[in-house]
Amino acid sequence: MSEDTGEKVVELAKRRGYFFRSSSAYGGVGGFYTFGPQGAALKGNVEEAWRDRFAVGEGHMEIDAPTIMPEPVFEASGHLDTFDDMLVECPDCGESSRADHVVEDNTEYEDAESFPIPEVEEIVAEYELVCPECGAPLAGAAIEEFNLMFETQVGPGDGQPGYLRPETAQGIFVEFPRLKEYARGQLPFGVTQVGRAYRNEISPRRSIIRTREFTQAELELFVDPEGDGPDLSAVEDVPVRLYPASEQQAEEGDEVETTVGEAVADGTIADPWVAYFLGVAREWYESVGVDMDRFRFRQHLAGERAHYAADCWDAEGEVGGNWIELAGFAHRGDYDLSKHQAHSDERFTVFRQYDEPKTVERAAVDPDMSYLGPEFGGDAGDIVSGLEELAERDRAAFEDETVTVEIDGESHEIPVEKTGFAVEERTESGEHVVPHVIEPSFGVDRLVYTILEHAYREDEVDGEERTYLELDPEVAPTFVGVFPLQSDAELESEAEGIAASLRAEGLSVTYDDSGAIGRRYRRQDEVGTPFCVTVDYESREDSAVTLRERDSTDQVRLPIDDLPGTLSALREGDLEFGELSG
Ligand code: ATP
Repeated sequence: MSEDTGEKVVELAKRRGYFFRSSSAYGGVGGFYTFGPQGAALKGNVEEAWRDRFAVGEGHMEIDAPTIMPEPVFEASGHLDTFDDMLVECPDCGESSRADHVVEDNTEYEDAESFPIPEVEEIVAEYELVCPECGAPLAGAAIEEFNLMFETQVGPGDGQPGYLRPETAQGIFVEFPRLKEYARGQLPFGVTQVGRAYRNEISPRRSIIRTREFTQAELELFVDPEGDGPDLSAVEDVPVRLYPASEQQAEEGDEVETTVGEAVADGTIADPWVAYFLGVAREWYESVGVDMDRFRFRQHLAGERAHYAADCWDAEGEVGGNWIELAGFAHRGDYDLSKHQAHSDERFTVFRQYDEPKTVERAAVDPDMSYLGPEFGGDAGDIVSGLEELAERDRAAFEDETVTVEIDGESHEIPVEKTGFAVEERTESGEHVVPHVIEPSFGVDRLVYTILEHAYREDEVDGEERTYLELDPEVAPTFVGVFPLQSDAELESEAEGIAASLRAEGLSVTYDDSGAIGRRYRRQDEVGTPFCVTVDYESREDSAVTLRERDSTDQVRLPIDDLPGTLSALREGDLEFGELSG
């Protein structure tokens, strides 16, 4: 599909109430969108389908954490230091752009995000890259790191600094000590969250594909680093189109059509848990209406991958002729929990019981406080912690007459005899381990957009051009439209009664009595309503109505009494429209 289709989808989205720029009465502000009645329903259905599969379907817990979190959380997570993008300001028009995107869009470099700033500046100059907005040369313009987090003050006065979360994941990680109790300390266990995330994107663009407030659906699976992997039998035959790093870097590299099982066997996907989720995700994306001919998994290139991530793949959808990231699947090791453990006073570990108790040697200290107190005053506590940590890490440090402890970059000498250092034998029944994290992280807004573009169709009906959305009934905002054929009190009341009976069946129904019947069909086609029911004058005689299918525009006559059951069966996929006789 072309960029042109993208424009048509955005126009349709606005006209029919899928999504539109927010606060336009006040000129709007870039990167914020409102989902209208159709869009909110579609998005809600997608989120529900995600919960069904990734929370309920996997037996995981769901939580709902605040969107504002205090500064120490993001100090620990690393977001304050490193959640930056490269900003370049046009010297001519003042427009801000992402320097790495300017490079990636106009050169052969694919992972400029991972390059140091001076290198990006050199590339900008060498390729004579220009401002995407006005075309002025960018060579010589300084590139800066720009932190994407929105800061706020919590409470009156100077308050306490807080940040709008840039991902839902931290809300799960910081609560790990409590969540592990709910999981009875047993690994593996998973926690999900569906909610808003905020990023002050340098140049939000392409409607809801890159916004400053968006919805994520994330799953954090906590696993034992030495535990068994997943049972892959449920996904091993799932076909996947992969674009491994090696193929991306090869001269004539290409995507590979394989199965999850084969990709694990030949090592293309290194981690079995990541492979498991790629298989589950592939089937789920298909079920909500992503076109599998325009879908693939792309492996992160080494430079793109966070240093702690063992393996990382993105689910990508093709829209407007470009591939966009729909979700990321990463093996994050113990990075997140270790960071929070180091920065807080809580334990981000689980207790792993040994099969048999083990006798182990433990080095420990029992410092002489009557010496440390007068000698180090207020620093004595830090010295004790330093000695404890050193005893665990490096017994050899206690072999000489004095031992050296570093506190805040300063060295302190302590006589070994004052440390109470000793190596003891102990019987232990288990050990505390920091779980590893496997993270499938889905973006909901980009998916909603992709579903719309992949469902967009144009055809001709009765000599007239028609636009319709071939949305899957599971996610379509409205399942059935109900119309009286003409403006007539009796027909209207009959049709309203039918609409009410279908709503009572749990179906989402739109009642529409305005305009010519053809116009009403077109309206429902354009919002992707799979079926329409029309009540006409004959309905009184034969107690039947006309049921019309969106895609084929075929119509059948059905007894009114059969409608709720038939439509429910169509909704559940237990019945095909073609099986109904005309
Ligand atoms: P990108 O490289 O496109 O900025 P990312 O790699 O930073 O995305 P992640 O941090 O992996 O994204 O976030 C997980 C998912 O959240 C993404 O796959 C995407 O679907 C969604 N997402 C991230 N940023 C945005 C945004 N600004 N607008 C809409 N969705 C987003």
